[in-house]
Amino acid sequence: APSTIALEGQFAEGFPELAIPWRAEEAPEPQLLALNQPLAVELNFDLDFLRSPEGIRLLIGNALPADATPVAQAYAGHQFGWYSPRLGDGRALLLGEIAVADGKLRDIHLKGSGRTPFARNGDGLAAVGPMLREYIVSEAMHALRIPTTRSLAVVGTGKPVHRERLLPGAVLTRVASSHLRVGSFQYARASNDLDLLRRLADHAIERHHPSSDQEANRYLGLLKGVVSVQATLVAQWMLVGFVHGVMNTDNMTVSGETIDYGPCAFMEGFDPGAVYSSIDEQGRYAYRNQPLVAEWNLARFAESLAPLIHEDEEQAVALAVEALNGFRQQYSATWFSGMQAKLGLPEGIDDGVASPLVDHLLELVQEAGADYTSLFRSLGQAARGDAEPVRRQILDLAAFDSWLERWRALSPDADAMDRVNPIYIPRNHLVEEALTAATEGDMGPTDQLLTAVSQPYNERTGFEKYAMPAPESFGPYRTFC
Ligand code: AMP
Ligand code: MG
Ligand code: MG
Repeated sequence: APSTIALEGQFAEGFPELAIPWRAEEAPEPQLLALNQPLAVELNFDLDFLRSPEGIRLLIGNALPADATPVAQAYAGHQFGWYSPRLGDGRALLLGEIAVADGKLRDIHLKGSGRTPFARNGDGLAAVGPMLREYIVSEAMHALRIPTTRSLAVVGTGKPVHRERLLPGAVLTRVASSHLRVGSFQYARASNDLDLLRRLADHAIERHHPSSDQEANRYLGLLKGVVSVQATLVAQWMLVGFVHGVMNTDNMTVSGETIDYGPCAFMEGFDPGAVYSSIDEQGRYAYRNQPLVAEWNLARFAESLAPLIHEDEEQAVALAVEALNGFRQQYSATWFSGMQAKLGLPEGIDDGVASPLVDHLLELVQEAGADYTSLFRSLGQAARGDAEPVRRQILDLAAFDSWLERWRALSPDADAMDRVNPIYIPRNHLVEEALTAATEGDMGPTDQLLTAVSQPYNERTGFEKYAMPAPESFGPYRTFC
């Protein structure tokens, strides 16, 4: 592996209207806090180089590889339903792209790298805690086979950040298949530059949805492609109990990767109304609302693409509505087949049998407020003959025992269940514990937690605490971003 990183500047060169050349702030005392070795190897980066002082400075944009043209990207977005015409990377930079083995590009992106022209009142900085939270949770999502941006490194800057108190600062080095957001298209559309909008759509088709080319109307094909990847993505979130927390249109990718881990959380006690973000007072982004919100965001994407889909507005709307209707069908299909897998049921089982079984189980789980993750894992034990661990989590045992009987009659496959039902997720109390320790300079708990969640299905001795919900004393969980 070469001892530098060769970066392309395809976005910077191709979209000057959406890219402001900018430099990362100089870190007084860079210190490597976390380095994602498997990802670095996958990207063919030299590990020794990345750990060297020059490599660390490269990871935070302080030592630029030859030909790098870091840019702050422009985008708009609906935040909690309200439109902001100009958001953009206020504290982030796209360093450039790298070409990887599959022939696709990956963005190398920084978060917490200093103020940019989009910073508004923000300080452009990030604290160690939130950057490590993104690192931990995105790696957990990746291990759960859920499309996501990845985290290559977190580097402490040695510069304090002012929040409610002084906190150590850090920069996250993020790898993504792109940073094209629904909000990027909203920005291009609002610029009234049809050529820009078309170039952006063509770029998105080439990078993420090449099969759109086979459609008579390639921009309608793009819309359908994004509807499809987002329907699948959000269904996968729902299946693992993930609550994103800020599903603003600027936090929704065109690639279908999860992005911008802020006040996110994994649900513990099953509660469709679960909200964790301290700023989401109305519960707009509650667990159960996520598919509806995704659909709403995709409608904003469709509006942005409309002039490319058809020059006649009414016809564009009719075509877009039809494409958007695909969301519910694909979401339901993915969610339902995922639920069947979680229950160890064979494929091709009659919906009329499986569907009431799933609904009835979720009613019992909700009534008991049972831990969503443990519940499915203990059902695997029940499939092997030991129903006691799962029965302990349910209140209405008479109803549950008859449910168990109906379910067992379908011969659930316990091993298959253990391959899809994680035992280790990033438990909120353990994430907080790890971030608190890291803020005080101890990376041990973060490393341990990462070891647990990067093999989520593989039960190991010594990791018992990572399989347990928070103790009562942890109280209701609130996240801040
Ligand atoms: P987020 O909620 O993290 O997705 O960010 C929403 C917008 O606020 C984006 O335009 C960010 O770049 C910007 N932003 C968030 N935090 C800061 C900060 N500390 N300094 C500057 N801009 C920020
Ligand atoms: Mg964001
Ligand atoms: Mg952000």
